[in-house]
Amino acid sequence: METTTELSQSRLLGTYSYPTSHRVIEIVSIAVFAVFYAVFGLRAVAAVGDDLDVATVGLTVLAAFLALVLADFLSGMVHALCDNLGSVDTPVVGQKFIRSFREHHTDPLDMTRGDFVRVNADNFLVCLPILIPCVLWLNVGSNPFVSTFLVVLMAFLVVTNQIHKWAHTDQVPGPVQWLQARRVVLSPDHHRVHHTPPYDSHYCITSGVTNPLLTKVGFWPVLLRFCRWAGRFLGGSPATGSSQGPGA
Ligand SMILES: [Zn+2]
Ligand SMILES: [Zn+2]
Repeated sequence: METTTELSQSRLLGTYSYPTSHRVIEIVSIAVFAVFYAVFGLRAVAAVGDDLDVATVGLTVLAAFLALVLADFLSGMVHALCDNLGSVDTPVVGQKFIRSFREHHTDPLDMTRGDFVRVNADNFLVCLPILIPCVLWLNVGSNPFVSTFLVVLMAFLVVTNQIHKWAHTDQVPGPVQWLQARRVVLSPDHHRVHHTPPYDSHYCITSGVTNPLLTKVGFWPVLLRFCRWAGRFLGGSPATGSSQGPGA
């Protein structure tokens, strides 16, 4: 999740404020993902379609639902750790990941000012180490449901930041409103809980489907206690802050 705090400039590769070399890496990541994902997705569709019956359809829907749940949970884990563990000075992940989550709490609308590449490229890049081995070595024909699970999982992973951005955006396309209303993707109302004091729940930002269960079983307090314990070794302080605005 890139930030747009610095003044963006219109350039050959779009409007951004960071080095062009970084922008090139972002665009190449998205392009490589698109090519490999198309190959993997088509193989998965063909594998499922080869033996289409009620059981296949049921297992395919189940695999897709489990993928959505896992994507949502992973988004919450990354978000909670980046909000509560370490600081912007933490080596490797501080500037790249923790910074953007911390700044999101002081300016939730910052991400709405970034374009598609800026907001989503990191997630495309992170998925490549999963996607490329799947295309090269996974026998999709023998593992249609595992393949379906991975196809849907990566689809939700790469659009998680976009979904989060939509939850903070005043006007979103009609189909997105439709998906938000049915909680397939994160809704502004649901996400507003996370941006309300004490800022210690509803970290999942893909669909939010796992937030109620994780809150009910007390998952976040346990994780935050771990963060406070680990924080004694890493330094830094958790993210807090006001966050009013559309869908904040
Ligand atoms: Zn947060
Ligand atoms: Zn947010």
